Amino acid sequence: MNIPRTSSARVVIIGGGFAGVSLAKKLSKQDVQVVLLDKNNYHTFQPLLYQVSTGGLEPDSIAYPIRKILKNFPNFYFRLAHVEGIDTAKNKVITHIGKLKFDYLVMATGSKTNYFGNSEIERYSMAMKTIPQSLNLRSLILENFEEALLTSDLNERNALMNFVIVGGGPTGVELAGALAEIKKGILPKDYPDLDTRMAQIHIIQSADCLLQGMSAKASEKAEEFLEKLGVNVWKNVRVTHYDGKTVTTNSDLTFETATMVWAAGVKGATIKGLDAEALITPHSHRVLVNEFNQVKGFNHIFAIGDVACMPSAAYPNGLPMMAQPAIQQGGQLGVNILRLIRNEPLKPFEYKDKGVMATIGRNKAVVDLKRFKFQGVFAWYVWMFVHLFFLIGFRNRMVVFVNWVYNYVRFDREARLIIRPFKKSRIQKP
Ligand SMILES: Cc1cc2nc3c(=O)[nH]c(=O)nc-3n(C[C@H](O)[C@H](O)[C@H](O)COP(=O)(O)OP(=O)(O)OC[C@H]3O[C@@H](n4cnc5c(N)ncnc54)[C@H](O)[C@@H]3O)c2cc1C
Repeated sequence: MNIPRTSSARVVIIGGGFAGVSLAKKLSKQDVQVVLLDKNNYHTFQPLLYQVSTGGLEPDSIAYPIRKILKNFPNFYFRLAHVEGIDTAKNKVITHIGKLKFDYLVMATGSKTNYFGNSEIERYSMAMKTIPQSLNLRSLILENFEEALLTSDLNERNALMNFVIVGGGPTGVELAGALAEIKKGILPKDYPDLDTRMAQIHIIQSADCLLQGMSAKASEKAEEFLEKLGVNVWKNVRVTHYDGKTVTTNSDLTFETATMVWAAGVKGATIKGLDAEALITPHSHRVLVNEFNQVKGFNHIFAIGDVACMPSAAYPNGLPMMAQPAIQQGGQLGVNILRLIRNEPLKPFEYKDKGVMATIGRNKAVVDLKRFKFQGVFAWYVWMFVHLFFLIGFRNRMVVFVNWVYNYVRFDREARLIIRPFKKSRIQKP
């Protein structure tokens, strides 16, 4: 990989997401060599992916070059590499561009979509975990409407205009709200010759409430907001099959749709070599770590962020797979790696819960902070402020802010472009 060996300890970080970047920043300008490996050369701000999928934002405004984030750090190396395995006996990572020796290794690979072993759903549904996936979804939504115009078969047209979102967490709720706003504000203008009232948005949740994990008030309000926007909310329903045209559930309900979005779960993006059963939690498939983020059996190999499961009394199944735990663990591990090098005792990680929020659409959001819980317009402003604050890069913040103001004033979403058509080869015609 052409990275010089120096007298400084080498810390290899796999993943330039929230956790990896936070750690790399902490180790900047310290007496360690930091090598960050990522299969993409950019950091993705995943909380706004749904806005890319629905034409509210351009993808560039929620991505940021990793090299630019860390450009002023003299001890930093980035390599665009897909990590394929870890050789714990030889202290090496194995990537598609070669092997690299490490003194300290940090797995910050995040998570991937969990289909719970259902290969049919994996094949036919749309995921929204990455920018390319979000662009696929954006294209598919728009291609569906173009196609709906061309068919005289009513069932086919209905299926093209039906959207089924599986999963009532923040991702599903936010996407459903955005689709409902497209139906109301954009479709009638763009497709005057299509009866856009036929477009239906369904959100299916296997639990008895939306936004599980947030307060009861937040989930009630989210449901109320969605219903006001015309979204059909189905609770206590579990999707069992999808063959590209019919969604089957564990009840009598079925849905004919050309677009099913799977937002029903994620699991740790583990890497070969650290995926032995003893190291992994069965449910969320995350790497078990102790309170210092050390992987069981190693004192120089760590996992942080979504991929790590740190059970505690307050969080017996590990911390929520969200940005804050990832950012905080990255920062704390930076401190601990430096302590480890200096032979000082490590400091246990303590999660500071800063709250959870979700937006359902214009002027509609729900916010649960530690002390205050609120919903509605003020919550929406708080949601926007927090998301702008955590976006990386001044330009991105400005672009997103200007887009939001424009969209708000004009009731518009300008990025409704089929730039890279999504080949519907996987999706059979309804
Ligand atoms: C649609 C969506 C909406 C969300 N909304 C919210 C929200 O509103 N609030 C919130 O707090 N959280 C939200 N989250 C969750 C949040 O984005 C994650 O918890 C957070 O990104 C975890 O950070 P991380 O650093 O662990 O992983 P990630 O940010 O996922 O970063 C992992 C990095 O590792 C790289 N990588 C993975 N495998 C390899 C490999 N084998 N080789 C090389 N590189 C690799 C990836 O390219 C990526 O850059 C959302 C997630 C999604 C998908």
